[in-house]
Amino acid sequence: MLTFAQLIARLKQRYGQLEPPPSRDPFALVMWENACYLLSDERRREVFEALQEQVGMSAAAIARAPDGVLLPLAQRGGMRPEVRVFRWREIARITLQQYDGDLSAILKKPFAEAKRALKQYANIGDPGAEKILLFCGMGAGLPLESNGLRVLTRVGWGRPQKNYGSMYRDVQRNIATVIPAEIESRQQAFLLLREHGRVLCKDKAPRCNECPLAGGCDYAAGLVAAFERMARP
Ligand code: SF4
Repeated sequence: MLTFAQLIARLKQRYGQLEPPPSRDPFALVMWENACYLLSDERRREVFEALQEQVGMSAAAIARAPDGVLLPLAQRGGMRPEVRVFRWREIARITLQQYDGDLSAILKKPFAEAKRALKQYANIGDPGAEKILLFCGMGAGLPLESNGLRVLTRVGWGRPQKNYGSMYRDVQRNIATVIPAEIESRQQAFLLLREHGRVLCKDKAPRCNECPLAGGCDYAAGLVAAFERMARP
């Protein structure tokens, strides 16, 4: 099996330096997560930038923007735009009421407290909160979304399991001592693993024949062994 450093180095060679989300501010990153529903990163960036330009990326600006401005932007973010506008307003309301409009105050709190604060917002669970804190430069771990978790599990850094939470914890235990210390390296590791899961190591049909990790991947080795068994006379 590939070491964690080898794995990331190969992904970096394949995908290059990936662009992080467009802010290091927790409020903006909560809005980034809620900009779109089931659409591409390009569309997410488009909606986020339009919000930034036409409304302003602050709780006060979102709260005072009329529906006539927010709704057309939310419509560019996919299905159920009215729900999205409601969520944007809720994000603004919580930030104004609890943090006087400045969510960056949570970055001065202990990690667990900052994470709890972020989990109050729509669509932010444990990994989502950890991801936001990672891109704000906080925390020592490597959160994973579903693509990254799938890649690491297939390569051999965890045991495939039906229970997502157990599988997540298993992989986290196994990588805890090998992830890089520098925050920028962990941010890139997050982005590279996600990109690989989206582009080649897809859920239903992984493209192992094109994959730079194939030589050190348990899942690919299993496919080869099964093929050889079938080919035996
Ligand atoms: S070899 Fe296949 S299963 Fe393994 S990481 Fe690459 S695409 Fe995923």
